[in-house]
Amino acid sequence: MTSYWVQTSRAQPYPVLSQNTVADVVVIGAGIAGISCARELARTGRSVIVIEARRVLKGVTGNTTAKLTSLHTLIYARLAGSLGAQAARQYAQAQQDALAHVRATVEELGIDCDLEQRSAYTYSTDADEIRAEVEAANAAGLQANLVTTTGLPFPVVAAVRLEDQAQFHPLRYLHGVIEDLQRHGGQIFEDTCVVKLQPGTPARVTTESGVVVETGAIVVATHFPFHDKVGLVTRLVPRRELVVAAPIPKDVDPEGMYITREQGVRSVRTAPHKRGERLLIVTGEIYRPGTPGVSERFDRLTEWAQRHFPIGQPSHRWSAQDNDTTDGMPYIGTIAENVYVATGFGGWGMTNGVASGRIIAGEVDGTPMPWAGLFDPGRVHLKAEAGELLRNAATVTKHFIGDRIQAKRDMVVEPGTGDVVRVDGAPVAVYRDPDGTPHAVSAVCTHLGCIVGFNDAESTWDCPCHGSRFDVNGYVLQGPAVEPLEARTLPQDWMAGRISER
Ligand SMILES: Cc1cc2nc3c(=O)[nH]c(=O)nc-3n(C[C@H](O)[C@H](O)[C@H](O)COP(=O)(O)OP(=O)(O)OC[C@H]3O[C@@H](n4cnc5c(N)ncnc54)[C@H](O)[C@@H]3O)c2cc1C
Repeated sequence: MTSYWVQTSRAQPYPVLSQNTVADVVVIGAGIAGISCARELARTGRSVIVIEARRVLKGVTGNTTAKLTSLHTLIYARLAGSLGAQAARQYAQAQQDALAHVRATVEELGIDCDLEQRSAYTYSTDADEIRAEVEAANAAGLQANLVTTTGLPFPVVAAVRLEDQAQFHPLRYLHGVIEDLQRHGGQIFEDTCVVKLQPGTPARVTTESGVVVETGAIVVATHFPFHDKVGLVTRLVPRRELVVAAPIPKDVDPEGMYITREQGVRSVRTAPHKRGERLLIVTGEIYRPGTPGVSERFDRLTEWAQRHFPIGQPSHRWSAQDNDTTDGMPYIGTIAENVYVATGFGGWGMTNGVASGRIIAGEVDGTPMPWAGLFDPGRVHLKAEAGELLRNAATVTKHFIGDRIQAKRDMVVEPGTGDVVRVDGAPVAVYRDPDGTPHAVSAVCTHLGCIVGFNDAESTWDCPCHGSRFDVNGYVLQGPAVEPLEARTLPQDWMAGRISER
């Protein structure tokens, strides 16, 4: 499952970090947040090192939809209601500033990244919620309108429209940013997993091979923070979603960026494609990682796209996950002495990732952005987030305890499928590949001990609590986990495909 963005950009290899070193700033994670932070900080004259566990820009950023907009579904009515009008205004300012910053960067560096101006729309069958969002967005300083006609090939009851927004090819943009980072002396390392960090002066990071970097500032831009086991971990909620894409004739391009919360969320944009065509990109089916039935979700999303647009089978399918926060605002800023974090973008990390660079560089440099306080990871909005906090805690507890109890004691694993079964009293994640070969690993996530679930569309083990993902041999595909799932031995009668508890 390779995304269109990864398929159509040139990936350059970077070295492994193999020697102890020092730098003014260490950025952990090379997605849009990490690369944006690194470039902004390098431009202040600081020496910057980026350390990436796997491949640069192949995480969530390589699997996004890449709408660059300040219209984040229905966020302004929610923010105005929960955190107040000033919070909504500052959120809008941070997003508009990020959008302007991308435009200026593309212009300044001459980056060829298909940056296209588009209107953004949120549509709904509930005209009242659209009215409320238009009012809240306008009060937040955006020029939003209520419309009842759009470029979509089906009628909508009502939609918020925000003009002068944009869409782009995120990886081509970020490769251009990386070149500028390198021109400013920035260094990038990949296949180098950071397993430990130590706040202080100096602060330190340690990689899996024991290499230590001493630094004046650490930016944790790893998507879900890998190091935090008690703080943000309770206030971040992973949610995975699916994408299908297929060419459409240019004359049926809906010429806008659309989203609705209905039908498990449906989001639509197009991108430049071959002559006479555009690539239709449809996103949706939001669910908690580790939930069964992912293939069926792909079918539903494909069927929806085929019902509304003249497409056959998708040319591309991919999926990825983002983190919601319990109060709906990203966490961007300092969390410990000389340690900064950028996460919790709630499905809107293109602008929020760029904003992270602006906010964190401002804080490190002593010239904070006016809206930095809004994103402070140390904030507590108990009234606004208590409900979400409790719901998240209940879900994590259910998966931590309930999934252990529910692990089957006797089962058959068909070729091409996976399931969790008890072996010698412990939950084991068993996958049988299409030729019948078994792969058995511990089902206990190495991050905080929840039980992983099988993703039948990608043949991966996904953790429902904090979103870590592993391949069928236990190798970490996505953090916060940094340790693999341990290999397990299956009972003798495995070849029959049946496993019974011993
Ligand atoms: C399907 C989908 C569609 C989306 N569409 C949009 C959209 O249209 N517009 C929008 O604004 N947003 C969108 N988003 C959200 C946006 O894509 C994300 O918020 C954003 O890409 C997150 O970027 P990031 O840099 O935080 O994470 P990533 O891109 O995942 O980067 C984090 C990096 O850190 C690395 N890492 C992790 N742990 C370690 C470690 N221990 N040591 C070293 N490196 C480590 C990872 O390997 C990874 O490369 C979408 C999200 C999804 C899932």
